[in-house]
Amino acid sequence: MTLKLLAAGLARMQLNQQNSLWSTPSPLTDSVGLPAAWNVGVTRLWWRALERGQRELVGHMEAFGWCRTPLGEWPIELDIRESDADLMLIENGRPSAFADQAARLAPAKDPEAELIENRCYEFLILTAERNAAGEKEVQDNYVALRGFLIANPLVSDLQFHSLIRRFGVKDRNGQPWVKEWFLRCYRPRQASGVVHVAVCGDCGNPLASNSTGCGTPGCDGLPTARMVEAMGEYYVQRQAVRRYFHDPGLAEQRILDALSPVLRDRLYPWWCMDAVDAAIDFGGTGRMGEGEWWAADVKDHASAALLGQSFRWDARANAQCRFLVLAQHRFDRPEYVNDLTREMEGRTQGVRVVSEEAFIELACARARECR
Ligand SMILES: [Zn+2]
Repeated sequence: MTLKLLAAGLARMQLNQQNSLWSTPSPLTDSVGLPAAWNVGVTRLWWRALERGQRELVGHMEAFGWCRTPLGEWPIELDIRESDADLMLIENGRPSAFADQAARLAPAKDPEAELIENRCYEFLILTAERNAAGEKEVQDNYVALRGFLIANPLVSDLQFHSLIRRFGVKDRNGQPWVKEWFLRCYRPRQASGVVHVAVCGDCGNPLASNSTGCGTPGCDGLPTARMVEAMGEYYVQRQAVRRYFHDPGLAEQRILDALSPVLRDRLYPWWCMDAVDAAIDFGGTGRMGEGEWWAADVKDHASAALLGQSFRWDARANAQCRFLVLAQHRFDRPEYVNDLTREMEGRTQGVRVVSEEAFIELACARARECR
């Protein structure tokens, strides 16, 4: 709980200074006082210290410093799972992916922090619906737009315009729906002519000027320069979109890419607009719940404990075989799977926890049997 509150406080601090994309959250630059969640979090740390007989007061700057060190090394003992011990709340000067996840589970959720993510999702669905004539087309559009966010952390205005050509339906004010969605997901950067942007060679995320690695969980790509031709602007994915759609989407996309040549039209990416990330109709019935269907929810969460607490199977995905598929780099971490299953105990019966690679193997093997 203390960590969730501190994480929510950090998220708030960052929002308060979000004028710059790469801003570093700091309690010093905030003139209007510290976020309530942060204050409660620090107070709880202070009580914890008193309980353990530590006399020194825990100050804000001190607590802030701890956020940059792994949880396992905090001078105050925290009630955390072993696999969480090397996680940090601040990484590269920004709230980490773990902090983002924890903040979302904090009791007083920050409505603004979720705004970008939710609005992006809402407009994704609207764009998919308004540009479709039937249910199947809605889903096809959804898959195309969802895939776009994963493939494109950086977008040239040429790409943006071809997106508008493909999804041309306009709203009452004469704006294409896809444009509204797009500008909620991407931030424009002024540029003209050919620009070279430093990006990760693997995941494609733009790199901050001072960064050493790419920072995307599970990615160890090397820096490279991407050439973008811009007429006036190019576009960079917003932080929240990157965290909730792009980065975790990489594992989803790897799985879909591996399975689609084998399963072809038996594979349903992001079935039912994301009720599950992958559904497979081995029996060829065309209806989930009839015949042999597999469904997989793919997760790439920093903390196994938090994933276990928040995981729910979407009831719409009434498949015979259900999988919680973990991104390989999470699955391979010591104690991660143990901590996850301990946390989920009894609440998600019938859901098998497997790694990304194991799921691909199982599905391919089953496809060979069915042939
Ligand atoms: Zn990368």
